[in-house]
Amino acid sequence: MQKYISQQNLNILLDKLIAEGTRVVAPRMDAGTPLYEPLKNSGEMLTDQLPRRSAKEAFFPVCEEIMSYEKERQQITLTDVDPARFPETVLVGVRPCDAAAIPVLDAVFSWDYKDEFFLERRKKTTIIGLACTIADDACFCTAVGLSPSDTRGSDLFLTPLEGGGYACETYSDKGETLINNHSGLFTRQSKTKTLPLAEPQTEQIDLKKVKKWLDEHFEDPLWDGNAVRCVGCGACAFVCPACHCFDIVDEGTEKAGKRRKNWDACGFWKFTHHASGHNPRDLQPKRYRNRIMHKFKYYDDKFGQTLCTGCGRCVRICPVGIDIAAIVEDISRKD
Ligand code: SF4
Ligand code: SF4
Repeated sequence: MQKYISQQNLNILLDKLIAEGTRVVAPRMDAGTPLYEPLKNSGEMLTDQLPRRSAKEAFFPVCEEIMSYEKERQQITLTDVDPARFPETVLVGVRPCDAAAIPVLDAVFSWDYKDEFFLERRKKTTIIGLACTIADDACFCTAVGLSPSDTRGSDLFLTPLEGGGYACETYSDKGETLINNHSGLFTRQSKTKTLPLAEPQTEQIDLKKVKKWLDEHFEDPLWDGNAVRCVGCGACAFVCPACHCFDIVDEGTEKAGKRRKNWDACGFWKFTHHASGHNPRDLQPKRYRNRIMHKFKYYDDKFGQTLCTGCGRCVRICPVGIDIAAIVEDISRKD
């Protein structure tokens, strides 16, 4: 179903949802940095900036409590965090590269172990994607088979129109329900001309060829050459919409504390450090190799898709200028 919503009506919709108690998460400015965060009102939403970190935090927070414990003499009390308390959420203004990563995360969080913290938030969230009208030199969604108007992962998708407002297309029952519940704010689409969309300056990379090369080159000089600069800061994983590693830690004292689920990253030396003291990825190039292998081979082996949506965040943030797009492109040209 294609509809039209004016900017004014979109603001009315978001303010109404917030007033009703729905958590509305969108790109907004936080101390000078654009981030996906809960809005206090629609006026805070940014539509023209790529948030520094991805939208995955709406389902998979940087740090979250999953249980607490207390010990009083011989009495130990364990208290689970109940995911049922998570609020209904509308995630709006989501970039196509971020929205496309959400089904990628679904696959891993509902695989052999069902992660109820992720899945409950996911079930309660409606995703409103927004076509990109801006791209920078780091964007390469088109190189990995996406585009600035890709609707993967969106329940409802907005495309900015010339003269203001948005064309809206629904892609799931959640999207239909949102429109039906606020039908007075949406009209039949009369305008057709969209604003010029972003044009990332990259050709599509042959990902099948990349995977084939990775299948055969676990050991290769390329790893040392590219990854020797990596300082293992983990920033690339933390900004990535598709990276999903986490650690479970108990924080507190013998008497009381909390069990937390914290983001982790394969770039950290401790990530594979065994209790025995052995570390199979003892050098940084081995850790960086894992990053590329996981994204373009291992994830594909297991789930039939690539663990990178070309958002370019890791390229922008890497303190030593490691460019994953250039590395993968280089691999795609190898025999
Ligand atoms: S690997 Fe880099 S470019 Fe690819 S999705 Fe993650 S942050 Fe974005
Ligand atoms: S951001 Fe750069 S230096 Fe930091 S872990 Fe990633 S590749 Fe290595």
